[in-house]
Amino acid sequence: MKSPVPIHTDIVLVGGGHSHVDVLKKFGMKPEPGVRLTLVARDMLTPYSGMIPGYIADHYSRREAHIDLRPLAAFAGARLVHAAALSIDPDARRLEIAGRPAIGFDIASIDTGSTPSTRGIAGTEHAIPVKPIDRFLEAYHALADRIRAHDGTFRIAVVGGGAGGVELSFSLAHRLRSRAADPGQETTRIEVTILEADDILLPSYNAAARRRVTRALAARNIDVRTGVTVSAVAPGRIELEKGETLACDQAILVTSAGPPAWLADSGLALDDRGFVRVDDRLRSPSHPHVFAAGDAASMDGHSLPKSGVYAVRQGPYLAGNLRRLATDRPLRPYRPQGQTLALITTGERHAIGARGPFAVEGDWVWRWKDWIDRRWMAKYHDLPDMDEGAGPGEDVLDAMRCGGCGAKVPAPVLRRALDRLPEQARDGLDQGLDSPDDAAVLTPPPGKVLVQTVDQFRAFIDDPYLFGRIAANHCLGDVFAMGADAHSALAAVMLPHGDDDKTADDLHQLLSGAIETLAEAGAVLAGGHTGEGAEMAFGLTVNGYADRDAIIRKGGLRPGDTLILTKPIGTGVLFAADMRADARGDWIEAALASMQRSLRPVAEIARGHGVTAGTDVTGFGLAGHLLEMLEASGIGAKLDLDAVPVLDGALELSRDGIESTLRPGNEASAGADVLAGDHPVRTLLFDPQTAGGLLFGVPADRADACLAALRAGAAPDAAVIGHVAAREAHDSQVMF
Ligand SMILES: Cc1cc2nc3c(=O)[nH]c(=O)nc-3n(C[C@H](O)[C@H](O)[C@H](O)COP(=O)(O)OP(=O)(O)OC[C@H]3O[C@@H](n4cnc5c(N)ncnc54)[C@H](O)[C@@H]3O)c2cc1C
Repeated sequence: MKSPVPIHTDIVLVGGGHSHVDVLKKFGMKPEPGVRLTLVARDMLTPYSGMIPGYIADHYSRREAHIDLRPLAAFAGARLVHAAALSIDPDARRLEIAGRPAIGFDIASIDTGSTPSTRGIAGTEHAIPVKPIDRFLEAYHALADRIRAHDGTFRIAVVGGGAGGVELSFSLAHRLRSRAADPGQETTRIEVTILEADDILLPSYNAAARRRVTRALAARNIDVRTGVTVSAVAPGRIELEKGETLACDQAILVTSAGPPAWLADSGLALDDRGFVRVDDRLRSPSHPHVFAAGDAASMDGHSLPKSGVYAVRQGPYLAGNLRRLATDRPLRPYRPQGQTLALITTGERHAIGARGPFAVEGDWVWRWKDWIDRRWMAKYHDLPDMDEGAGPGEDVLDAMRCGGCGAKVPAPVLRRALDRLPEQARDGLDQGLDSPDDAAVLTPPPGKVLVQTVDQFRAFIDDPYLFGRIAANHCLGDVFAMGADAHSALAAVMLPHGDDDKTADDLHQLLSGAIETLAEAGAVLAGGHTGEGAEMAFGLTVNGYADRDAIIRKGGLRPGDTLILTKPIGTGVLFAADMRADARGDWIEAALASMQRSLRPVAEIARGHGVTAGTDVTGFGLAGHLLEMLEASGIGAKLDLDAVPVLDGALELSRDGIESTLRPGNEASAGADVLAGDHPVRTLLFDPQTAGGLLFGVPADRADACLAALRAGAAPDAAVIGHVAAREAHDSQVMF
């Protein structure tokens, strides 16, 4: 969003693992002027390894055991790209990302973890891999359902007897057996067997700790078979290398960590197993501008276990060295600790600890571990308040930049961004981006009227591609709300100052997102204007065509009409909270999904059900836009506030006193036209919406069919929120 100084270095963090969460925290505590962080993360919640077993055993909630990357990224001022990295080209310094344009970087850092190795095991599709842990937990719930429906003994084989396999066996046995004790499940017996290729379990632990673990396994009836190598998994059985077959209802893979497959052909120096080689500065020896940490990395000269402990310890060094490289200072070495404290939980609130030759055990060990883990998590859950003041040097740098036409993005930069965009041709666009001139030339279809609208706003998220998608959808909303077909659009773009490569890349990302949304809406980009400014902003002038008598207007509501709203409200408060790092990632994800839903099919459905009047809900909030319709129709409305759809999190945040800066003004301008009251949803009636839903009236006898059609796909959250009512002189125009 607002960039105090021109960006000179782009650091892209790939994967939200244990090391990267610390990088984000450190940069949030002390931002580096001119350095921009981008986090590319496949999952928005990072499971904390220390709490995984406790989470599986049901001692921790999902929130307690995960770090929400969204507020953390907001705290760090980092761009957040919620998508999986597909491949990296370290020479061209580009990262390919699933479902969107590649992004460039100056420095990259990889912390994407590992998944259980399946080398040498056939039929792994019949097994559940323990990682990614969230997919495992989804599979776990299905497994628990199967066990519930199962009569007799249910046999689980855990393949791999390292610390992960042992702890998982303890946790699973504890949780599943607690469930099996539920009334009606008494006949289900759960057998857990650990299969380990080595001759002993936990070879890196001291003998005293191993003895305690072995005793604890036996006490919980968990069988252990060492010196057996699994060669295949098949439905109902496991095959061992020596020809033996074991009956097994479900195999779970907790084999040794396998390398990240997406890096195999990257050209980065990899070790013989496929992990990214790094030196003692955590840098790739082949590409010193690429770093790696955690399970994905393999440190030259060391053979570190794949354990979250190392990923955690590397975080501060990684943060420091990324900062140092970005600011041309010498890097510091990371020296892995010789001995680590290992703590193994045994299912219930009990644990065994090992360090060097010592071993301890007890409920107190579990409480001690719990304290350590919660203290670590608190660093990423409880973020300090953010300083929203301007950064140093802003005035000086702004004063040095040209205004007026001098603030245009240079032509070669523009060309580089535009050249990579798909062709923008369609009927009626005689001259557009593909044959650029001073202005676009359009030929309107005969008999149609031109419906034109313009909208523009500052970025409310840092990801230019997603911002382009949502901003375009918002701008298209007016045309669809009028009942027109979108044809073409002209863009007005403002980008923060940066070097030419970064500006071209940002522009490409932004326009790619906008063009995708335009294409989905049946429109093309015909031209535009791009300038530099303090922060990213985007707008479109959209051209649509309609039959004159098919236009949906704000006026025309009749007494008794049913009022339908097609999207939940609350985007204003949610993104106000997001800017302060106060919003949960899943709330924002749901809001972003809603904001990307087009009003095109919604307007078609409204028209097909006799719409009497309609408008899209945007900056003035639901109440403001409803009042506009009521004014134009000379009538009032009665709303059912319990029926107004609200985005997850909006009510909680609103109750906490968070609001968009525009909300009080919206409420003030509505004045007494909206009945006073303390219903929690009333406040949100004034919440400004970005890419909000269509609000429209239909005859009451067609409302049910209209709602069913909307909910069948185009608008799953659509709701009847009230009806149009005659207004007595003393009434507010909007009543409840
Ligand atoms: C059952 C079990 C119990 C364990 N218990 C412990 C324990 O108690 N203590 C301990 O120290 N270790 C434990 N471990 C090991 C520990 O989980 C790992 O060593 C640790 O998670 C590694 O951290 P990391 O930062 O390298 O990666 P991860 O924590 O795995 O994080 C990687 C992140 O990268 C993301 N990602 C992956 N691929 C991509 C992609 N292509 N693009 C974008 N993002 C991507 C993932 O979504 C994930 O959020 C346990 C492991 C298991 C299986």
